[in-house]
Amino acid sequence: GVVPEVPLAPLAALEEARLEWDDAAPQAMDYGDVYFSIHDGRAETVHVFLDSNRLSERFRDWREARPFVIGETGFGTGLNILCAAQRFLATAPAEARLHVVSVEKHPMRAADLERALSAWPDLASLAKPLVAQWPAAVLGVHRLWLDERITLDLHFGDAVERLSRLEGGVDAWFLDGFSPSKNPEMWSPALFAAMAGISHPEATFATFTAAGFVRRGLRAAGFAWRKVPGHGMKREMICGELDAATSAARAELMGLAERQEQHDRPRPPLPSPAQRGVLHPLRREQPWTQPPQPAPISRETHVAVLGAGIAGTSCAEALARRGVKVTLIDAEAPGARASGNTQGALYVKLAAETNPASRFQLAALQYSRRWLASLDPEQTLWSASGVLQLATSERERKRQQRFADNHPLPEALLRPVTAGQASQIAGSEITFDGLFYPVAGWVRPKALCQHLAATPGVSFRQARIVAIQSLGAEEGREEGGKTGNGAPRWQLQASDGSYLEVDQLIVALGEQTHLPEPLAHLPLQPIRGQVSEITVPPDQAAGLPMLDSVVCAGGYVSPCQRHADGSVTLSFGATFAPRDEDEAVREADHIANVAELRSALPAFVAAWERARGVRLEDDTWQGRVAWRAASPDKSPLAGPAPDAAQWREDYAAMAFDAKKRVPSLSGAHLPGLWLSTAHGSRGFTTAPLCAELIASQLCGEPLPLERELAEHLHPGRRLIRDIVQRR
Ligand code: SAM
Repeated sequence: GVVPEVPLAPLAALEEARLEWDDAAPQAMDYGDVYFSIHDGRAETVHVFLDSNRLSERFRDWREARPFVIGETGFGTGLNILCAAQRFLATAPAEARLHVVSVEKHPMRAADLERALSAWPDLASLAKPLVAQWPAAVLGVHRLWLDERITLDLHFGDAVERLSRLEGGVDAWFLDGFSPSKNPEMWSPALFAAMAGISHPEATFATFTAAGFVRRGLRAAGFAWRKVPGHGMKREMICGELDAATSAARAELMGLAERQEQHDRPRPPLPSPAQRGVLHPLRREQPWTQPPQPAPISRETHVAVLGAGIAGTSCAEALARRGVKVTLIDAEAPGARASGNTQGALYVKLAAETNPASRFQLAALQYSRRWLASLDPEQTLWSASGVLQLATSERERKRQQRFADNHPLPEALLRPVTAGQASQIAGSEITFDGLFYPVAGWVRPKALCQHLAATPGVSFRQARIVAIQSLGAEEGREEGGKTGNGAPRWQLQASDGSYLEVDQLIVALGEQTHLPEPLAHLPLQPIRGQVSEITVPPDQAAGLPMLDSVVCAGGYVSPCQRHADGSVTLSFGATFAPRDEDEAVREADHIANVAELRSALPAFVAAWERARGVRLEDDTWQGRVAWRAASPDKSPLAGPAPDAAQWREDYAAMAFDAKKRVPSLSGAHLPGLWLSTAHGSRGFTTAPLCAELIASQLCGEPLPLERELAEHLHPGRRLIRDIVQRR
């Protein structure tokens, strides 16, 4: 393969674009080039990118259940993408969806973006959500929504590095780096190879340039091009599509070859193995993470989600948003168990050294925040209070220092604070330094789960499921894991003897750590947590100190809630007890919660006790017990369910050579079975992004996470480790 394997860089702020303004038109100082033509940037965009990719007719004819996907190199001001989005809304059928993936190494600041786009008032309805959701300038995938039907994934970072980590298929490419002579790395053989590796068989491309080395590079990577007249003064530009052999190879690799044949299209000869190397440049270190061929979803696809805590309800919402019919099932009401505390912190704990777990958590925090803001802009279900993470010991202080040194992140995301700054943020005296996460906060768990369960397209069914069974798993494997005749794949049996049959099933049980067969092999550990709550009646609530942000140290405390009747609740916790099955609320646990609170916030507790005239230990309190599920490595399990028995056979050779490359096997997953679990005590941060990941995998869309991070979450990772370690 020609795409270099680039190790994941540490999490750090990217260099923002340095701009010079010529009236409304920005220019990049570092590249000495313009973002769009000053005279008629709009007309050029339409000619070069929209019309040369034939977008109007392709949008108009789009009948697939999956979205049409545009890929762009160089997001810049977003002009191209907003024009394409506007064209899509004007021409595509009402059920069609559009998905954009665009890379950008030097993001603009939101204010500059707004200024540049203000030149086109008719794009305002698309520019507004773009500016409002614009992410901090940090490496990673940032998923935004421009409209109910239009998703935008901003891949911040270098184009080659980003595209080589992208899992997905592109239908039309916009090549819009600065001019090839000023920015050759945006036009390199590695970039074109990465593009070919994630193109749908019928992918087209267009670009304003006709430079010789660009033409040669595209051809070598498997694109056929032709010269067409350029815009305005420019004599020529090029556009084209995957050449026949490359297109056939992509169809084969994506499991689409048979579908193409069904359409009576002639099948070109298959490429030679050498050609294939170029076609499949994204070699996997671990073949077992090869994603399952998505069973083609249709508008009739019916998915059951088992478990109505935050993991399940967020999956249900993510699918319903895509028009998939969902039945959400739980033995109790939505948000009744571990997701049912009064307040739930939206927080993360990042390792001092960059690792996949931290990268995922930071991505998840940013995603959750954007998702909550779009779901509930009024903040009735959540609060953007920020989270303080205090360093209450010398060891933690050093750890935080190491973290900050290794990760110079944008201040809007995370910043070190002194005790004084922390006090200002919290609105109450704090005696320790720490880290502040402005994008974090807290949610009202039960209300949020109920809200998600009521998403149009989701029907909730209260039932205790006692068994799940695959229907026709045998044929499934023979057919390479694809749905053959559209018959339901999974049957759920309820305790009242009733059955439900669905096409696909997502298991999102957290509390119930003994999962039903065929998932019982998954290593989940139940962890008991008890939270404490003290509610002060309205007539005694005057003079209480208030906390305005979540504060974490050993435990956590949520901002004090003042209710409509004037009473105030302070909630804090939680204990952390693996392998403890006691359902009773325990006094000793409450005392432990108070001790944690006292050590993290001594000044706050002293002020509170002065105002109450009673020690926290002796005040009237309430406790609540629930279990969170955790995996051995503490990251969630999210993705397709492995076929454990089959893996033990298929990957047996890895017990003797862990590096052994086993040819990737189709059907190595249980077709149509997915998991989102093991969110531990961070479900409000991690579950929404896992839900989006699963919905994207299930619907055959580009993933909202780098391939490495999707692999990190793969539910089969422990199974492979066990095979390698001969357990
Ligand atoms: N499509 C944009 C629009 O509609 O406004 C204009 C894109 S501008 C001509 C080129 C963009 O590519 C700039 O935003 C620049 O920061 C970005 N860029 C340059 N080198 C890059 C690289 N190596 N990787 C990713 N983006 C890069």
